[in-house]
Amino acid sequence: MCSGRIDLEFVLRAFSNGMDGVFIGGCRLNECNYTTHGNYHALNMVLLCRRIMEHIGLNPERLKIEFMSAGEGILFTEVMNDFGKKVKELGPLGKGEDIDEDELKSKLEEVRKLIPYIKMVKREKLGVRLKNEEEYDGFFTSDEIDKLFSEVVSYYIDPDKCQACMICLKKCPVEAIVGGKNRIHVIDQDKCIKCGTCFEACPPRFGAVKDIFGEPVPPPVPEEARTVVRKSKEN
Ligand code: SF4
Ligand code: SF4
Repeated sequence: MCSGRIDLEFVLRAFSNGMDGVFIGGCRLNECNYTTHGNYHALNMVLLCRRIMEHIGLNPERLKIEFMSAGEGILFTEVMNDFGKKVKELGPLGKGEDIDEDELKSKLEEVRKLIPYIKMVKREKLGVRLKNEEEYDGFFTSDEIDKLFSEVVSYYIDPDKCQACMICLKKCPVEAIVGGKNRIHVIDQDKCIKCGTCFEACPPRFGAVKDIFGEPVPPPVPEEARTVVRKSKEN
């Protein structure tokens, strides 16, 4: 019911599924029936998503948000007709931008994997209530989004430091950490949503979780070499 419920994931999933355009209709700004004003969240999400689209080479005009009341049928018709025409002009997704189908698919998949991270990094801005349309354009900038993607953090467990206390494994919200009793823990990078919980949770006396920026993550320790060797047992 509320445009604020429309997640970045929904929009990018629609494009991944081959939609040529996505339209979001929300109630007029400042006319929300509740205290939540979800339409402001929807607006900021769209502004962010449009910059992300530019970053991967898609025309941001394929995504549109418009605010109107349920009684404005004529306005809705006009807006939808205009948007339909615009999307037709732009042509099929990817083809209109001269991006190879497989390349587009993999770009969209990469971005979708980073959605929890993007939402976490941009959490404060996503909650801002913009006052007028002049503020929309510069709210998220291309440089800012390029920087966001070039500085994506990864988390890695240093096998020489992990003491298999299992704290990180229990706290990871998406079960991305593989480990067990006396087993060096390993982060499954494909499942990790980069929330940083393991980084915060690993006891300072071990300090085994590292944050890595803009560099490849070392390969995981082979299964057969994951037994923790305690110092007392080494001697
Ligand atoms: S960063 Fe978050 S999601 Fe990734 S392994 Fe650590 S706790 Fe799990
Ligand atoms: S919290 Fe630290 S020491 Fe404990 S299992 Fe995780 S990485 Fe290893």
